[in-house]
Amino acid sequence: MKLASVRLPIVTIDGPAGAGKSTAARWLAYTIQFKLIDTGALYRSLALMAMEKNVAFDDEFKLAELCKNLNVQFGNLELPVYPDKDAIPQVKIFCNSIDVTESIRSPEMGMAASNVSKLPAVREALLQLQRDFGAQGGIVMEGRDIGTVIFPEAEVKFYLEASVESRASRRQLELKQAGVELSYEQILKETKARDDQDMNRKIAPLKKASDAIVIDSTSKSFDDVVTLMASKVRDYIRKN
Ligand code: C5P
Repeated sequence: MKLASVRLPIVTIDGPAGAGKSTAARWLAYTIQFKLIDTGALYRSLALMAMEKNVAFDDEFKLAELCKNLNVQFGNLELPVYPDKDAIPQVKIFCNSIDVTESIRSPEMGMAASNVSKLPAVREALLQLQRDFGAQGGIVMEGRDIGTVIFPEAEVKFYLEASVESRASRRQLELKQAGVELSYEQILKETKARDDQDMNRKIAPLKKASDAIVIDSTSKSFDDVVTLMASKVRDYIRKN
């Protein structure tokens, strides 16, 4: 007797910086036991590698060369050993075997990632890498162009948005928890600058896929967002 093989869906979550994608994606992947791929971490790791090798963030040719040696690996999602009420599942990120989980998270690396991600040769170089991560299904992949460019055929797509003010406040809280103190005004300014750059770049700008489920998280709790997402994924699995 042949057992039917079940291919689990590819779930994509796109949206602007600070809409809560990362937290929602982690909880969703943890809840439905899918692998989590944070594609922003690829651009951040590339930016970190470029900084360490003194490659300018606009040197398209050298950055594309660096991509050839970029080996990013994601660990499994795990809850902290002593979770407090705000704890979210953690995932270790390794770039060429070095643990970069913390070092890629600074606001500077966020902006640097946004700079390198504007370059067509970089996006092209990271396209196949992202597709390889997701090919087997059973993944939650978060980023900016996952449902539009990387996996336009993904089975379940979400677009998570929120007002720019609430995104800046959330970012400030996240940074504070990570021990980084920045003023709300500065974070708001950086969030707007990153939106502008991500939404208006020529290649793969941030936009909603026409078949994405749009969720505005401005006045929703993460619990509500994740419950809604998990129910949509389970609906899909049940029906297929
Ligand atoms: O999501 P995160 O803030 O880590 O992403 C850092 C930057 O990487 C974003 O501002 C964006 O410019 C870029 N990015 C992208 N496409 C993705 C993921 C991230 O252009 N799929």
